[in-house]
Amino acid sequence: MEPRATKRKAEALDVAPTLPTEPALYSGPFPFYRRPSQLGCFSLDAQRRYHGDARALRYYSPPPINGPGPDFDLRDGYPERYLRRDEEVREGLDHLLRWLLEHRGQLEGGPGWLAGATVTWRGHLTKLLTTPYERQEGWQLAASRFQGTLYLSEVETPTARAQRLARPPLLQELMYMGYKFEQYMCADKPGGFPDPSGEVNTNVAFCSVLRSRLGRHPLLFSGEVDCTDPQAASTQPPTCYVELKTSKEMRSPGQWRTFYRHKLLKWWAQSFLPGVPNVVAGFRNPEGFVCSLKTFPTMKMFEHVRNDPDGWNPSVCMNFCAAFLNFAQSTVVEDDPRLVHLFSWEPGGPVTVSVHRDAPYAFLPTWYVEAMTQDLPSLPRTPSPKD
Ligand code: GDP
Ligand code: MG
Repeated sequence: MEPRATKRKAEALDVAPTLPTEPALYSGPFPFYRRPSQLGCFSLDAQRRYHGDARALRYYSPPPINGPGPDFDLRDGYPERYLRRDEEVREGLDHLLRWLLEHRGQLEGGPGWLAGATVTWRGHLTKLLTTPYERQEGWQLAASRFQGTLYLSEVETPTARAQRLARPPLLQELMYMGYKFEQYMCADKPGGFPDPSGEVNTNVAFCSVLRSRLGRHPLLFSGEVDCTDPQAASTQPPTCYVELKTSKEMRSPGQWRTFYRHKLLKWWAQSFLPGVPNVVAGFRNPEGFVCSLKTFPTMKMFEHVRNDPDGWNPSVCMNFCAAFLNFAQSTVVEDDPRLVHLFSWEPGGPVTVSVHRDAPYAFLPTWYVEAMTQDLPSLPRTPSPKD
């Protein structure tokens, strides 16, 4: 069931439509979601420079099963071996757009596939999936239509910006600890071993570019992937990918319940979208050491809340996302890369829309718009017998 966007007042007044977010409105059957396939990938290096290859991909290398088990000091190297990405740099969709520009001539799906698609980051879709259950953080998504394609790019809300600038030191350290865990669990080469002596540099990223479809909405999105498992049953991406997470050690059934209700929802949404089959969690003790690991298969996460009246439901998440895509596709009618429809949401309310032109909301860069407006660079011609 997909409730149509509701008009706030009488139809005749022609007020802007809004989209409700209450879970009860989206509890129909699970919608169609195409098995995500990887179209390509790219890497960002230590200086955040783009490379159209998998050089930043790391290899899953957990501690040996027969050994003593993990004892990872997640605070080691903090802050002296921590190189943080500059969060003031607003990258928008730029890296994904560069990939798309360089591969637009080789996209599968037939002519016109891209024109009917929605292009965005996986992380933006994750926020849409969890919206019906989110009680803390709102979001803003800027949308532009260009050559048919709908582009969605997140805008940092004033609240999120204020929170980021006032981030407590303890939270800063917790963020470092998440990256440090990846370093303890990943090698640079298949069959290699982790080297936790180096620096943690959050500029480095490996991103998978995926194709899927939700209901009638073709999707092209990219997401950062932590590592690939060289031992995985299938070496085919995205099924060989592993997502790494840290969480506080749990000491009571009540703590597990809270974990299943809140954290597992976010983990599920993030990994289900790109088809990443497993999330490996490291549980840290109060001293910041990971002494236990647990693998959560993405497709089994819902089992932990299936019988919980205060749990989450994957159908609600996906139906809401489909309803948002319907809403956005029917709201953003005009094809103009300088025109932005800003979708805004705060917990407890509906999704609202405002319209803007150019700075500061327009996000499709001139280099992208101009290059896409040129004809496709022609491939070297295959000589024909007549030549
Ligand atoms: P996630 O699912 O939220 O981790 O985000 P994605 O995997 O969709 O990543 C999209 C892009 O945003 C990639 O280039 C990431 O390196 C980058 N990115 C990931 N997390 C953050 C973040 O917290 N802040 C900013 N500014 N960029 C991020
Ligand atoms: Mg991770």
